[in-house]
Amino acid sequence: MKKTVFYAAGLLLVLALAAGGWRFWQPGHEKLPAEQAAKPAAQPAASAEAERAAGIPVLMYHSVGTEPDNDAVISPELFTAHMEYLQQHGFTPLAAEELEAYLAGTLKLPPRPVVITFDDGYRDTYEVALPVLKRLGLKSILFIPAGEVGRRLSWQELREMKAAGMQIASHSFSHRELGALSAGEQAEEIVRSKELLDGFLEQDTRFFCYPYGSYNQDTLRLLREHGFKLAVTLEPGWVKSGDNPLTLRRVWMGNSVTLQHLHERLTRADYPML
Ligand SMILES: [Zn+2]
Repeated sequence: MKKTVFYAAGLLLVLALAAGGWRFWQPGHEKLPAEQAAKPAAQPAASAEAERAAGIPVLMYHSVGTEPDNDAVISPELFTAHMEYLQQHGFTPLAAEELEAYLAGTLKLPPRPVVITFDDGYRDTYEVALPVLKRLGLKSILFIPAGEVGRRLSWQELREMKAAGMQIASHSFSHRELGALSAGEQAEEIVRSKELLDGFLEQDTRFFCYPYGSYNQDTLRLLREHGFKLAVTLEPGWVKSGDNPLTLRRVWMGNSVTLQHLHERLTRADYPML
């Protein structure tokens, strides 16, 4: 009996490999043949060039908690399931510098690249999301309004998060709609946030997220002048090579994004909107 099961499993594996399922063969991915049969990959095995052209999904999370009527708040259970899905299917989270290198055409993409981002800096990013990311070995990026540090998260907690693989980047100083501000006010929002993050976290902050997705030509110029290399928006879609690094699209992640939706959003740039 055991032998039959063994041979059947072997046969399944051979079939899966023959069907192009070799891309699923990642270290630590044990449930392969069954999963492969249950849910075939939406993408066929792609060449490195095709994968580079397809682009990279940058996932946008906000709060992780229990607030069923607010889609910006994803339940801890669903968030954990999302992260386990990424890990079990061999996705490789990129650091912001790697996304920068991809856009500059100098990065050799790892298998199944993805970027995980969090906005605003809620307590649950530290208390709920970070332990899950740490357990699964997934790196991520947090965009925080620097002027709000001390209210929900402390500098010490941010240092811990950084040490655990979560990059800390700017979400302006006080989370105002930049596109509605004068150039002088915007400069203050950008410069003050950079000075605080640089000083308290001993880093050169070069990544930015527009509060409410709001920016104008002054914002782009000021970010460039102050050494920012990447900035993310609320525009839906994947990041593609050739995109303006200061107006990057992101993929919405909330309670409405089931595992099936997540699968779609990770495997096709033209994923259906909800
Ligand atoms: Zn925000």
